[in-house]
Amino acid sequence: MNVLKFGGTSVGSATRMRDVARIVESHSPVMIVLSAVSGTTNKLVDIAYHYNEGKKEKALALIDELEQSYFPFVEDLLQTESAQQEGKNIIATHFAHLRDYARNGFGIKQYREILAQGELISTQLFYRYMVEQNKNVVLINALDFMRVDEDGEPEMHFIQEALHAILAQVPGKQFYITQGFICRNPVGEIENLKRGGSDYSASLIGAALGSEEIQIWTDIDGMHNNDPRIVQGTYPVRNLSFDEAAELAYFGAKILHPSSVNPARKAGIPVRLKNTMQPEAEGTLISEQSERGTIKAIAAKDGITAIRIVSNRMLLAFGFLRNVFEIFERYKTPIDMITTSEVAVSLTIDNEGQLENILKELSVIADVEVDRDLSIISVVGDHISEGPGLAGKIFGALRSISMRMVSGGGSPNNVSLLLPTKHKNEALRQLNVELFQSVSQQC
Ligand code: ADP
Ligand code: ASP
Ligand code: MG
Repeated sequence: MNVLKFGGTSVGSATRMRDVARIVESHSPVMIVLSAVSGTTNKLVDIAYHYNEGKKEKALALIDELEQSYFPFVEDLLQTESAQQEGKNIIATHFAHLRDYARNGFGIKQYREILAQGELISTQLFYRYMVEQNKNVVLINALDFMRVDEDGEPEMHFIQEALHAILAQVPGKQFYITQGFICRNPVGEIENLKRGGSDYSASLIGAALGSEEIQIWTDIDGMHNNDPRIVQGTYPVRNLSFDEAAELAYFGAKILHPSSVNPARKAGIPVRLKNTMQPEAEGTLISEQSERGTIKAIAAKDGITAIRIVSNRMLLAFGFLRNVFEIFERYKTPIDMITTSEVAVSLTIDNEGQLENILKELSVIADVEVDRDLSIISVVGDHISEGPGLAGKIFGALRSISMRMVSGGGSPNNVSLLLPTKHKNEALRQLNVELFQSVSQQC
C-alpha cells in the first residue's frame, strides 16, 4: 500500500480537500497522511503560548477566532445538513477541549496536546467528506501506533507492529486516513515529531508498511535547486539520491522535514514530491539513483550558533577532541559543522537548550567564544566535493561576503558554508548565478 501525505496548503480549504480526494482515487488502496489545515498549527502554538504565560483571555479570544474559521470550511466541504452538523460537532468538541485548558494547570504536556488538535480536526473532516462520497474509508488514529522514545526518536518496531495490528482489524478498505505529526511518548502522553513532522510520519508509515512509494504532496512541483522563497527563477530537480535529499532536508530545504528521508532510505522506498495544485507536474523522485558530479541544489538553515574552542595547551593535544565531543554527547546536542586548526576547533549547533552547561564544561579545558545569528548554506550534489572547480566558483560567488566557516569532504555530497544570517539571501542569490546560471538559462 502506498502512502500519500498532504501538507497544510493541500488540505487548506474545502476545494483543496476535494482535490486530495480526486488524487487519492487512482492510488487505492492507499494510506493518506494529513497535516493540519494551513495556519492552524501556528495558531495553536500561539494559543498554547498565551495559556503558558497565564494570559487566558487572549488564549480564549484566539480560540474563538480559529473556531470561527472552521464553520464556513465545514459548510463548503460537506453537502447534506446531517453531514454538516456532524462536521460542526467535530469542531465544537475540539474547541471546547481547547477552552478546558483555561480551567486547569498548564505545562509542556498540555502544550503538546493543544498542538495535536490541528491534525485531529483535519483528518476527521476529510474522513466525513469521504464517507459522504460513499468511499470505502476508515480513519486510523496515529496516537494508537506512532510512538517515540525518551529522546524523541521513533520506535520503529512498535510502530510497525501496532500499525499492522490495527490494519488487520479493518481489512479491505480502499482509503486509510491518519494524522501526520502527532504521536505518543513512552509514558503515553501526546507528543509530536516537531514542526513539519507530517513528512516524517509519512516516511515512517511507508517504511512500516513496506510501501512501494511514499508521496509527499505539497504546494510546489518538487524540490527546487534553491530556496524559491528567496531566489527567483529556481526550478524543480527531477531526481535526487536519498543522500542528496537527506542533506538538503537537514540543511534547510523546507519542503521536507529534516529527518523525513531516513526511514524511507533505510527501507529502500522511493519518495516522490508532488504538487497538489498541479498534479500533472513531474515533481521530484528521491531514490537510490544519482547523477554523479552534478550540483543539484542549495539549501540554507538559520538559527545556527558557532562555538570556537581554543585549547589552552596551545596545541590540539591528543585526546582534546574526544573531551570536546564527549561534552556535547553528554548534553545530547548534535554538532552540524566542524572545522579545526592547529590550536582551535570551531563547531556549530542549532539547539542552544544545553549551551550554558556545555560552555561551563568546555571552559575547564579551553577558551571559548560563541557567535550567534548564523546560517549554514549547503551546496549539495553526488560527489561534488571531489570534482574540480567547485571551491573557485563558491568563493568567487561569495567574494564580497565574509564567511565564518567552510567545510567540505565530510560527506562527498556536500560543501557547507557558515555566514551571518544577514548575508544569507545575498549569498543564495549569488551562488545561484554562479552555480546554476547556465542551467537556468536553458529552462
Ligand atoms: P507542506 O505544508 O505541504 O508540508 P511546506 O510549507 O512545509 O509544505 O513545504 C513547501 C514549501 O517549502 C514551498 O512552498 C517552498 O516555499 C518551501 N521551500 C523551501 N525550499 C525549497 C526547495 N528547495 N524546493 C521546494 N520548496 C522549498
Ligand atoms: N501541522 C504541523 C506543522 O505545521 C505538521 C506539518 O504540517 O507537517 O508543523
Ligand atoms: Mg511541511
